[in-house]
Amino acid sequence: TIDGAVTLANGVHMPYLGLGVYKTKNGQEVRDAVTYALDAGYRHIDTAAAYYNEEGVGAAIASHPVARKDIFITTKVWNSDQGYDTTIRAFHDSLQRLGTDYLDLYLQHWPVKGKYKETWRAMETLYQEGKVRAIGVSNFLQFQLEDLMGNARVAPMVDQVEFHPFLQQPDLVAFAKANQIQFESWFPLMHGRAFGVEIFTRIAAKHQITIAQLLLRWNLQRGIVIIPKSVRQARIIENAQLFDFVLPQEDMEILNSLDEGARMGPDPANFNF
Ligand code: NAD
Repeated sequence: TIDGAVTLANGVHMPYLGLGVYKTKNGQEVRDAVTYALDAGYRHIDTAAAYYNEEGVGAAIASHPVARKDIFITTKVWNSDQGYDTTIRAFHDSLQRLGTDYLDLYLQHWPVKGKYKETWRAMETLYQEGKVRAIGVSNFLQFQLEDLMGNARVAPMVDQVEFHPFLQQPDLVAFAKANQIQFESWFPLMHGRAFGVEIFTRIAAKHQITIAQLLLRWNLQRGIVIIPKSVRQARIIENAQLFDFVLPQEDMEILNSLDEGARMGPDPANFNF
């Protein structure tokens, strides 16, 4: 097993390393990727209804010798399903496609204005019924978290957001920490664009690691959950080899100093889908 799990606000353990499957094709491609990951020791898979590959994720898990209870599965309710009844229905559809009778983490994919509180109420119900072990959000900024938490019976346990050296959102990180909301980064490898960046090449070479390992380890040392994506076995293995070295503080600080507030994905304050 690949080491390291964070304890969420409700006591549930969430592995720091997961496999992301955004844009991984349903069927053979996602079945292979999930199988390679489980073989390599990953115990956490991050999918979404909007990725259209939950069946393949479920099939890979069902046919793998690692037990379901030892795998942390996250999926997300898509924007068009936000609202109370529609979220309950979307959740059960996801369970069915994943071939499981419970989820480890259910997230709201984006903060749909005027709807996210109703959606949250449905997620609280699912949580209180024991159908999901933890609930959280994705792409929520501080004002959206505060608004949601103002009415909530259960506070979100996770916020999954875009995060990499060029987009560090220090205020959001601090707010999440102060409120026991675990930070989780998407685009940890900048969706593949990290690989030409000279400063990364230089630091990685110094430690004889790859750029992927450098950025992933930087997240881990900051206490942030990572879900790098690949469909290639060698990269899936490489992205999990993070637990036998430590980045010195000086290199952590170089990466910490690169924040430019540069978003690659949509702005959660102003998206339209
Ligand atoms: P990523 O930052 O993980 O980059 C993945 C890309 O980097 C791969 O497609 C590949 O081209 C390259 N890569 C991966 N490992 C490599 C290696 N070792 N060496 C060289 N190249 C390598 O980007 P992502 O897949 O878009 O994001 C990760 C995961 O985050 C997604 O799969 C998904 O699960 C999640 N995500 C969530 C949201 C959200 O709105 N909640 C949005 C985007 C992504």
